[in-house]
Amino acid sequence: QEDVFKKLVSHCKEYGFVFPSSEIYDGLAAVYDYGQMGVELKNNIKKYWWDSMVMLHENIVGIDSAIFMHPTIWKASGHVDAFNDPLIDNKDSKKRYRADVLIEDCIAKMDEKIEKEVEKAAKRFGDSFDEKLFRETNPRVLEHKAKRDELHARYAKAMNDGDLNELRQIILDYDIVCPISGTKNWTEVRQFNLMFSTEMGSTADGSMKVYLRPETAQGIFVNFLNVQKTGRMRIPFGIAQIGKAFRNEIVARQFIFRMREFEQMEMQFFVRPGEELKWFEKWKETRLKWHKALGLGDQKYRFHDHEKLAHYANAATDIEFEMPFGFKEVEGIHSRTNFDLGNHEKFSGKKIQYFDPELGESYTPYVIETSIGVDRMFLSVMAAAYCEETLDNGESRVVLRLPAPLAPVKVAVMPLVRKDGLPEKAREIINSLRFDFNCQYDEKDSIGKRYRRQDAIGTPFCVTVDHQTLEDHTVTVRFRDTMEQQRVDIDQLQSLIGEQVSL
Ligand code: ATP
Repeated sequence: QEDVFKKLVSHCKEYGFVFPSSEIYDGLAAVYDYGQMGVELKNNIKKYWWDSMVMLHENIVGIDSAIFMHPTIWKASGHVDAFNDPLIDNKDSKKRYRADVLIEDCIAKMDEKIEKEVEKAAKRFGDSFDEKLFRETNPRVLEHKAKRDELHARYAKAMNDGDLNELRQIILDYDIVCPISGTKNWTEVRQFNLMFSTEMGSTADGSMKVYLRPETAQGIFVNFLNVQKTGRMRIPFGIAQIGKAFRNEIVARQFIFRMREFEQMEMQFFVRPGEELKWFEKWKETRLKWHKALGLGDQKYRFHDHEKLAHYANAATDIEFEMPFGFKEVEGIHSRTNFDLGNHEKFSGKKIQYFDPELGESYTPYVIETSIGVDRMFLSVMAAAYCEETLDNGESRVVLRLPAPLAPVKVAVMPLVRKDGLPEKAREIINSLRFDFNCQYDEKDSIGKRYRRQDAIGTPFCVTVDHQTLEDHTVTVRFRDTMEQQRVDIDQLQSLIGEQVSL
């Protein structure tokens, strides 16, 4: 699996999907650029989200707020005081780690031990194995589980209390070693704020410390009244936004999974107090359906309900996707209560309330948030699509089985040979399709090689123009996934392609 992941990363670079930022200067950690194919896929993902959230919901509208915002917003939101990672350094390797991640990895290892015991027993007992009974009664499993639960409880309490000494003590007590040096020579645990800051205005006439937003959500909250009033919106309603967010992540690894500059697609849904948990369930279901509709495989998704809730939430779940490195969060759904609007009212001194004409009263609305990372979604789509196949003739091919609506190029048009008027005919076909689909013209190399190149970028249709085309106005359409070929009239191309690639 690790191997597949490495191949995926190099495929992304080789075919113009994702490049390391500033590569000729040896890169910038956890920052990436999207290339000529990547930008198309990314735009298609954003369109898929925007259309289903904004276009198809009468009661959801979009905005595009600025990245810079008044610094007090981040006080009100809790980010200045509470958006921290607890960091610990290993004195021997001089490497810095997130204390919480070290402990969570340790818990995951304990879970693995339990699963190994279960697997071993399942093999030994075969069909007659009663897994539930084994988990409940086997002394070794029970011992591992007791240890695991004890650690988990201690960890959860330390995180809740913000007790940094206790986090360090746990790392020492459980003999957690540095993955690089293998030693337990740890420093104290310190809090590290994840927000990037900069100065706005020139220092001569005084400047103001401002932050690069770590989430797009606050831009929605501070515009709640603007949108509600000017759009004459009635609760329940939502505001959606797609935009960049910035976090000074310490554990920057796993390619575009965790970046310092990334993009979010967020929707804040405003509801009556007391109705938030009903809407939370509704959005959980709606969002999972949206993911599954892409057809990447239903079994690749699962919910992970949070036990440990953020300071603003009264319910939270993640939609996790099976990446090459395990199930990981791609989207968070949070019941944010009236925390944000309430705090903005407090900090700004402006009344932020909604008058509910049906109830005849004013209140601070409650909020359900759906928040998904564009880049993580990109990675999940690429991971699910990437496929190495051995063909019947013994040759192999790499094919990106991208959902057709997301594919960067929808159709490649190729003249069989570079003469006899075939290139001109191919150009003519492209011109008739390019206003509806992203097309590519390719005349270099053998037709087989050209098909492989299109497979590698996930193009669902290849159209080949040959001598027969000039006689009977037909072309060969070759389908990416099945590699089947079909002879069709040029006039049919539009509807044949359109049917598959529209969302
Ligand atoms: P994690 O636990 O992985 O750090 P989070 O719970 O802090 O993520 P949220 O604050 O809920 O993430 O952000 C919502 C979404 O934004 C996430 O589900 C993820 O898709 C995306 N996201 C968050 N941080 C990053 C990042 N550093 N790089 C890329 N995407 C991110």
